[in-house]
Parts: sequence; structure tokens; C-alpha cells
Amino acid sequence: MDADVIVVGGGFVGLHTAYRLHKSGLRVVVVGGEDPRKGASWGNAGLIHQGSTTTVPEIMGFWRVVRLALRRGSYISSNPWIALRESLPGGWLWRYARSLKKEQLTERAALLAGLVRESKKQWLGIIRGEGLDAELLERGSIEVYFSDELFSLESRVVSEEAARLGYRVQVLDAEKCRELEPLLREGVAGGLYYLDDAWVNPSKTLNSFISTLQRLGVKIVWEKARGVREEGGGVRVEVESGGLGAGHVVLAAGAWTRNLLKSLGAKIPLIAGRGYLAVSEPVRARLARPLFYADEKIVVGQTLDGNLRLTSYFELNNPDAPLDRSKIIQMVRKVKDALRLEGELRIIDEWVGSRPCIPDGLPVVGRVGDKGRVLVATGLCRLGLTLSPTTAMLVEDIITGRENPLLRHFSPARFT
Ligand SMILES: Cc1cc2nc3c(=O)[nH]c(=O)nc-3n(C[C@H](O)[C@H](O)[C@H](O)COP(=O)(O)OP(=O)(O)OC[C@H]3O[C@@H](n4cnc5c(N)ncnc54)[C@H](O)[C@@H]3O)c2cc1C
Repeated sequence: MDADVIVVGGGFVGLHTAYRLHKSGLRVVVVGGEDPRKGASWGNAGLIHQGSTTTVPEIMGFWRVVRLALRRGSYISSNPWIALRESLPGGWLWRYARSLKKEQLTERAALLAGLVRESKKQWLGIIRGEGLDAELLERGSIEVYFSDELFSLESRVVSEEAARLGYRVQVLDAEKCRELEPLLREGVAGGLYYLDDAWVNPSKTLNSFISTLQRLGVKIVWEKARGVREEGGGVRVEVESGGLGAGHVVLAAGAWTRNLLKSLGAKIPLIAGRGYLAVSEPVRARLARPLFYADEKIVVGQTLDGNLRLTSYFELNNPDAPLDRSKIIQMVRKVKDALRLEGELRIIDEWVGSRPCIPDGLPVVGRVGDKGRVLVATGLCRLGLTLSPTTAMLVEDIITGRENPLLRHFSPARFT
């Protein structure tokens, strides 16, 4: 056998899983895919976020989400064929619509809030303990609103949820918003200040995590897994250069996990919710903390070198579809309208990545296949940077045989 466990996927879920299993004394090999830049972990917004366990459109109901998706230039969109296919009974959108019941949203928010709190602790422990080059910023984040109507609606909903779930959010008036973030233009309606949020530079953190694992002795193979097979007392993962054998395999290939499951005859409702990133040249102005421009759902973060990182959109599409440049142009224009930045905002890098999304909004962590040697760990959608450490803990619980009552909520069996 080449390892006790093979982890397929070189994003944050795969890396955290490899890290925990290695620390618990197991021999781990990561099959990371072709390029670390391909996964959602590389280009996301970088927020270790305390809210976001439910979104306000979800609370307002399915038809509000549909109306948003049909609006021209909206941050939500879909490939029409995917929308059609996934609206049929049993499809992703069909299941999503049925999951938006008040009790289900409340239960889901409570489950996720517990994981989020523990995840932040884990992230800070690993960043500090292993000396990851993450550009960690612990100054919270601000959601800023230009529309009075949206601000009054969302500040009410978010404050109620924060009080129920125990995270700290301050409602800010326009003056306080501009005092905390002097780069904001006139016309702000108000803001929500998430005091316990943290920010990391995701691509730097990913690269540094990869180097750390290699330094600790975890082997990482930068190839794609082509298929997985349960065989005798173990599993075999086919890669381009041959085959690898192990006692267990963990499928953590983000939005591509669905393809790998096909080789086992297993199925989970997983779809790519694609998001875009534009990175600017360094600018002289400094953001006080990451800013979420709520009207347009754009997160703006800033690297230590001064580059602005703009991220937005939720596009249901094939994970390998090409980038739509008009979305980058629109996002840059909207940020220039919201912030006082001198001169041009020159974009030096553009990217699109796929959030792995499950219709009921909960991760999928558990065994699949006939012999229980294959595990799946995916579906973290909008919160995957935040929640990857605790997802890895759940995987470790399964492999080491530790009881964890939370596991039943995340089991892939809930779809069969
Ligand atoms: C624009 C945007 C902004 C976001 N902002 C935030 C945020 O602020 N906070 C937050 O918590 N989350 C955020 N997210 C979500 C988060 O990025 C994802 O949920 C998370 O990165 C998913 O991690 P993952 O490891 O499951 O998948 P990925 O990061 O996608 O990794 C999957 C990996 O598997 C590899 N792979 C694919 N096929 C194979 C194969 N056959 N064999 C081997 N490897 C394979 C891929 O190359 C990739 O490296 C954002 C996402 C986007 C797109």
C-alpha cells in the first residue's frame, strides 16, 4: 500500500484533511489535481466569516432568488440548460426550493454556526502554530449598504440571527460606516460590522499550506485522479502515471467530486456555484478591513502589497466553462462607484472558480460505496474557506472510529 489514506483534492478541504490525518499518525498521500489555482480555495474572498449561515434572499423565499437571477446584470445567474435540467424533480434546484423552509433554515444556521466558531479557532491555531504565510488580518469585516430599503431589511434579519446564534454584529449608521472606512463614497445607508471575522490572502495561504504539508513529510502528487475502485481490503486510485493503493480514500475534489463518484456508482446532488475574482495593481489607498458591498454582493479585500481583490457572483455553470469577461468589467466598475480610489483600477489577474454547493446548504461528509473505504468531504459552497478545518475533523472522526453525533446531519445517505 502506498498510504493509509489517499486524499483526492488539493483545495483547503483536502489539505486540512491531510494535515489532521498526518497529525494523528496516519500515512497520507494527496492527489491534488493538475493545478492548485484551479480550485475555489485559490481565488476566494478570504473571509473567515461568522455570519452567512443563511442568506436573506433564502429567508425571503425561493421566488425572490428566482427574481434576482432573472434581473439583468444580477450577481446570480445560470446557464439555461443547467437551470432546466436541475429544475426537474430530483434536480438540484428542485431540492433547493424544497429546503427553504423556515424550520430547516433555522436548524441549518445553528449547525453551521457551531462549526464556524470551532473552525476559526482551528484556523488561527494552524496559521500561528505552523507559521503559515496567510497575511492574517483580525479586524472584522463590514457589510456596507447604499440602498436604505435593503439595509433596513437585512440589518433586522441579521441582528435577529446574530442574537440567536451568538455572533457579534454591530449595526452602523452612515456616519459610523464612513468613520470606520474612510474610502467609502457619499450615499452610504448603513452597515453591519462583523467584529469576529478574520481575513486571509487565500492564494498565499494555500501555497504556504502546501509547502508546510510537504515539509511535514506528506507526499502531494499534482495529477488528476481518473477513477476510484474498492478492491480487496482497500482502495485504488487511478492517476495518469499509474495507480495508488491505500486503506481509505477521501474524495475532496470540490465541484468535481461528482465526476469521481460516478466511477463508484454513487451520486450526490452537487453543483458548481461559480464566483469571479479580479486582482488590481497595488493601490496607495488602504482599506481598514475587508468590505462587503452588500447591494452588489462584492467583497473587496487588500493584500499586504496593496493589491485590491474583488470577488463576486454566483453563476450556476459547468465548473470548466470559460470565464465571462463582462462580469469582471462590471464588478470593477461597481467598486469604483462605491470607493474613493485615485486614478485607474488596473486589473492584473482575473479568475473564475467553482464553489461546491449542495441544495440543503450543509456539507456532505461520510462514507460512500459498498465497503465503506471511500469517504466524501465536500459541499461547503460559500463557506468553504471558513469551514474546511472542521470538515477535516469530521473526516478524522470517521476514519479513527470516534463517535460524533454531528455526523448524522452531514451524511451522504440523506439523499438516498
Ligand atoms: C469568488 C469566491 C469567493 C468565496 N469567498 C469565500 C469566503 O470569503 N469565505 C469562505 O469561507 N468561502 C468562500 N468561498 C468558498 C470557498 O472558496 C470554497 O467553498 C472552498 O474553497 C472549497 O474548498 P474545496 O477544497 O472543497 O474545493 P476546491 O478548493 O475547489 O478544491 C478542489 C480541488 O480538487 C482538485 N481536483 C478536481 N478534480 C480532481 C481530480 N479528478 N483528481 C484530483 N484532484 C482534483 C481541483 O483541482 C482543486 O484543487 C468563495 C468561493 C468563491 C468562488
